[in-house]
Amino acid sequence: MKITDLKTHILHHRLDQPFESAFSTFTDRWACLVEIACDDGTVGWGECLGPAGPNAATVAAMAPLILGRDPLAIEPIWTLIYNQFRDQGQRGLSVTAQSGIDIALWDIAGKHFGVPVHVLAGGAYRDSVPAYATGGFRQVGRDRIAALEEEMAQHVADGFGAAKIKIGYGHEIDVAAIRTARAVLGAERALMIDANHGYDTVEAIRLGRAVADQNIAWFEEPVVPEQLAAYQDVRRGQPIPVAGGETWHTRYAHAQALDARAVDILQPDVAGCGGITEMRKIATMAETAGVRLVPHVWGTGVTVAASLQMLAILPPAPQRHAPSDPWLEFDRTPNPFRMAILKQPITCENGRVAVPDGPGLGIEIDREALARWSVGD
Ligand code: CA
Repeated sequence: MKITDLKTHILHHRLDQPFESAFSTFTDRWACLVEIACDDGTVGWGECLGPAGPNAATVAAMAPLILGRDPLAIEPIWTLIYNQFRDQGQRGLSVTAQSGIDIALWDIAGKHFGVPVHVLAGGAYRDSVPAYATGGFRQVGRDRIAALEEEMAQHVADGFGAAKIKIGYGHEIDVAAIRTARAVLGAERALMIDANHGYDTVEAIRLGRAVADQNIAWFEEPVVPEQLAAYQDVRRGQPIPVAGGETWHTRYAHAQALDARAVDILQPDVAGCGGITEMRKIATMAETAGVRLVPHVWGTGVTVAASLQMLAILPPAPQRHAPSDPWLEFDRTPNPFRMAILKQPITCENGRVAVPDGPGLGIEIDREALARWSVGD
């Protein structure tokens, strides 16, 4: 089998209601999908985390390295691409682009052998996982508390057992938002907070102490991700478990974070950290270091499916009679193409999402839907 074609699909949708994290305003939804075709007709799909256009350009720059190669040589292809881009790469776009290619190769391998990725990788520990609703951004032009109340009530109505909200807009409003979310979710659901590195160390510690009584499951990206010592300070200075990792790329960046004991919960993104190949290594490192791993997920159904394949193979930690399953991050923010591009959307039922059990990633792309939002390739 040989790789005969590699292309990207850029998807775009203009939002009616923009929303904001601590540092960015989302006026549009974008995605960069990777499609790899083989001489026997097998097609695999991947997705790259981050800016769609630059990811597509970087994937295109990598294409000559893999055209004509055997798609089952997943590890050698990973190493070849990484090595060729290492001098100006190692992190950022070169790794997010490579992640999309790697996911597509795993999809091809699964389809070739007629098994899901989790079987190729050694077998699943679970066939479904609990999902947490991710959202709680600041809606532009809307009252922060009223919009959050409405959104949290919807998560409850939809059956979620956990939800994550954004903070990083200022101490007072963040404390009010957290207390609002907790009140609507009730004591029995998990609540996570995500500052998108919108605080410095002093502010993060003050916030963590102020909401210590709110039973927060984790405090995500309190400070900028390149300051590992600041992460340590936040861990030491306030009582909420600290999470991070969506911008740490490859096993090398995650090794530094683990060595520094920067987080209680590591959050690699399969479409950003280097793909399934690299995330398996990161998962082993996290297990070795005794650090919990909960994948970061932000993308279309392609990324969600790849993340579910990873969630299926994460070893139970600790191993005991009733192990706690790892959470799936389930994006609930507006994005009309997120699941529409799949022939069978991935859905959350009673707070859980099934691991796709079809060949490869276990999904089928709806090309008509794809064309509806496609703005280039
Ligand atoms: Ca995040």
